[in-house]
Amino acid sequence: MKRVFLETYGCQMNVADSELMIGVLERAGFSLVEKPDDADAILLNTCAIREHAEQRVLGRLGEFARLKNRRPGLVVGVAGCMAQHLRARLLDRSTVLDLVVGPDGYRALPDLLRRAADEPVAHVRLDRDETYGDLEPRRGSGVRAWVTVQRGCDKFCTYCVVPYTRGRERSLPLPDLIGQVERAVAAGHREVVFLGQTVNAYHDGRHDFADLLRAADRVAGLARIRYTSPHPSDMSARVIAAMAECPKVMPQVHLPLQSGSDRILEAMRRTYTRADYLDVVERLRAAIPGLALSTDIIVGFPGETADDFEHTAATMREVGFDSAFLFKYSARPDTRAWSWPETVDEAEKGRRLTALIDLQQRLSAASNDATVGHDVEVLVEGRARRNLDQLHGKSAHFKTVVFEDDGSATGELRRVRIVAATPLTLIGTTRVRAMASESLVSIS
Ligand code: SAM
Ligand code: SF4
Repeated sequence: MKRVFLETYGCQMNVADSELMIGVLERAGFSLVEKPDDADAILLNTCAIREHAEQRVLGRLGEFARLKNRRPGLVVGVAGCMAQHLRARLLDRSTVLDLVVGPDGYRALPDLLRRAADEPVAHVRLDRDETYGDLEPRRGSGVRAWVTVQRGCDKFCTYCVVPYTRGRERSLPLPDLIGQVERAVAAGHREVVFLGQTVNAYHDGRHDFADLLRAADRVAGLARIRYTSPHPSDMSARVIAAMAECPKVMPQVHLPLQSGSDRILEAMRRTYTRADYLDVVERLRAAIPGLALSTDIIVGFPGETADDFEHTAATMREVGFDSAFLFKYSARPDTRAWSWPETVDEAEKGRRLTALIDLQQRLSAASNDATVGHDVEVLVEGRARRNLDQLHGKSAHFKTVVFEDDGSATGELRRVRIVAATPLTLIGTTRVRAMASESLVSIS
């Protein structure tokens, strides 16, 4: 029982948790395989944030049931938020499952897998002290390293299942995190992304998030620092100053808005008003000129009227987000809002979502069009997926840039002139000598 196939669903925190699990498994003598057919054990690292995410995993388990019919010794496990959310009920619901392990059980994974070969096992105890601070993840090979700095969440937004699936908020000690960053750089990573559900509320008892940004900024060989997701109410003056003063912290923030209506923000228990949010944006933009902003928005929350929805669209226009993740509200068991009557039907949620997607397309197009003719600095990530003659990478503003393969190496910072744009991609060139030099204006 040594070969494991691991599939990851959901957010970046799950990607980082999968790297943690791989580290734990490899140190215990397990190896990772690329195909379920080659595995002794299959693990799905899952998400519970919307019902759809759980449906996808249940569908996938159906596929593995067929594999298990052919190979009865195969162990199938569900890890992560859906495991924590449904707990032992999952074992009852799915005959294919041998193991259910929540986000605080990964230290015991080798032992759990061995036991699950004999009888179904569930490990779903949340542990308010577990940070995995002493466990080195096995990072992927890209230019970017994901570093979890905080686990859990104490905010209890009324729609959100995360505080129930990931438990109480806890931060990893700053020295451990800087050690992780240094080792990631030594392994060839050029950028770190600090992860936490309310990452700017990071506090290890001695240091806050501003201290962490400043300490990471001093790590030699590191080119870029980003973080996700901050909470608007935790965006302190100290964090904004650290962002502005640390050259490696990129001028880009993903700042979830959720709704532009004060009534709905209150019902969501987001702890800020529309005006508070706009004030945070203003303070960020004053300190960090040209800052790129993205967001998360939920449409169709219980009680959301056409007027509330219009406030959300108006706020999106007012901020002029560079990009946005837009979601239809999905009622989740255990949350406060679960028992509230849904007042917006699926068709209307769909219409509101489409309207916001159209609006964001226009905002993204305007923001990307404004970069045409300017130079951006790109951290090269390798060959473009669609066109192998091109390279791709991200600008400081986290915009995807593609440009001709000029021999730049992966991990190199390259100055690229933007010549065209779509709402999703900037198209650039490094062959700028022939172009008029007076149009060369650096924006990021
Ligand atoms: N902690 C982050 C925050 O507060 O913004 C993000 C948490 S969640 C993984 C990512 C996004 O999923 C949220 O910002 C929210 O927009 C969305 N989301 C969470 N619960 C949802 C629900 N019940 N229905 C629809 N979208 C949801
Ligand atoms: Fe969920 Fe709110 Fe915590 Fe984000 S801040 S994880 S939306 S409860």
